[in-house]
Amino acid sequence: MNYKVLYRKYRPSSFSGIVGQEYTVKMLQNAIIHNKISHAYLFTGPRGTGKTSTAKIFAKTINCLNPVNGEACGQCASCLGFADSPDIIEIDAASNNGVDDVRELINNVKIAPSEGKYKIYIIDEVHMMTQSAFNALLLTLEEPPKHAIFIMATTNVENVPITILSRCQRFNFQKISLNDLKKQIQFVCSEENISITDDAVEEIAYLSEGGMRDALSLLDQLSSNSEEITLDKILTHYGSISTKSIKDIIEKLENQDIAALEQCFDDLENTSNDYKVFIKKMVKELTHIAMLIKYNRYEGNLTFAQIKKIIFDFNEILNKTNINMNPYVLIKLTLLGSYDIDQMSERRTIIFKEPEKAKEEVKVDVPKKEIPVVDEVKVQQQDDYLQKLKKVRINNCFVGAKKDILTTYQEIWKRLENASIKSDYVSWIMDSSLVAASSEYAIIGTKLDSLANLINSKIQEFTDEIKKEFAENIHFIALSMDDWNKEKQIYVKNLKDKYTYQLIDETELEKPKNEEKEENMITDVFSHDKIEVV
Ligand SMILES: [Zn+2]
Repeated sequence: MNYKVLYRKYRPSSFSGIVGQEYTVKMLQNAIIHNKISHAYLFTGPRGTGKTSTAKIFAKTINCLNPVNGEACGQCASCLGFADSPDIIEIDAASNNGVDDVRELINNVKIAPSEGKYKIYIIDEVHMMTQSAFNALLLTLEEPPKHAIFIMATTNVENVPITILSRCQRFNFQKISLNDLKKQIQFVCSEENISITDDAVEEIAYLSEGGMRDALSLLDQLSSNSEEITLDKILTHYGSISTKSIKDIIEKLENQDIAALEQCFDDLENTSNDYKVFIKKMVKELTHIAMLIKYNRYEGNLTFAQIKKIIFDFNEILNKTNINMNPYVLIKLTLLGSYDIDQMSERRTIIFKEPEKAKEEVKVDVPKKEIPVVDEVKVQQQDDYLQKLKKVRINNCFVGAKKDILTTYQEIWKRLENASIKSDYVSWIMDSSLVAASSEYAIIGTKLDSLANLINSKIQEFTDEIKKEFAENIHFIALSMDDWNKEKQIYVKNLKDKYTYQLIDETELEKPKNEEKEENMITDVFSHDKIEVV
């Protein structure tokens, strides 16, 4: 039998067959239609999203003798001979990372194409090249011969030197959407006469996490006999609970929908799902959310502290060798118990009970100067600094908080919605309100934790942009309304206890080291992902 794996068989052979990358396809086709081809392209994005297939189709179309509306004709000598064309040179940098290969490549680059219009180099996994290989490539990219085109693909753009990046037109390939994946799975199944249930299609799409190659490989494995593919079969095959169910549970956790959460666990307690697989899948999803929170890209209600507690408790469960009860009971209690952590307790002891100690604590605890610059450390430093800044500014706001100042500031805040300031800032202002103010301090209340984090991460720039409307020396800090309500309660209690608030000098907080220069350079060059084809 001449069996071809599904992924290869259904690999697109024309631009119209590429799924989920409409923008990139359109830009590449425009380049061909208007005959504005660059010498170097870089395709970036997760694996299985069509980078290599697109590179080949692009190469084929560039060399086609009669392209029609930016699509290869499929009939000319160049199209027919494309598969063995000596003018298309494919290099897998993962296996050819020696400098010798690149040197050879460079020697040959000067030789004109033998048949086609262009000599096209497709370099896959370009980030795997050695530094000296990059240097050799760079020399060619600096002055490429007219007939040479480089199409590079990578899953790890951060490992590609900026000197190479700056000479390429860059296209970011997106994860393929669930819908697009489902459509393609359904299409392949109908072409191949594979019978499959709708929920099985859905689960395969979920499991493949945006990669078409993974989706079709899964389908390959599951269709090895002629039985219908069902959700049960997939779950048995992977010994697990479906990713969709995990996402459902997390959604209920986010919404604090306790009743629905209970129902999920009633179901789980009655199944034979391996609880260890369940925990591992939950941890994977929760870790992802934790990272989103750290990068201010999360819009749900879970907090970092809550996720951390859940993961630590899960670890405890995994460490228990002998569980004499249904493990799902423990898992359920872990999730429900995560709502109880009182993130305010620490803050209360530090600032509101013993102000003298508070200053010490603030000084001692700030990040040391010489911390290695690793992304996570930076994020952590920034986070620690903002947490302390938050405590100090809340405290300082309470020192001179007055109702009439708040009213005045609230009116100004409202007016800022129509001010000519950055549109991001306008949307922050529209999605928040001032909840407390003294003449020099104001607390911004936001519905979501994530918006508060976002505002605080840019608090200085934001303040600079709007401060002229307020007092000269105004300081802002943002809090979610949940956090604010807790702070307010503490404030009221402290007033009753006749506690006197005293100003804390925030300049004693050490700012995190700023090592973002190179990153800024990269964004400066590439902030416009949608680069115009020249
Ligand atoms: Zn052709």
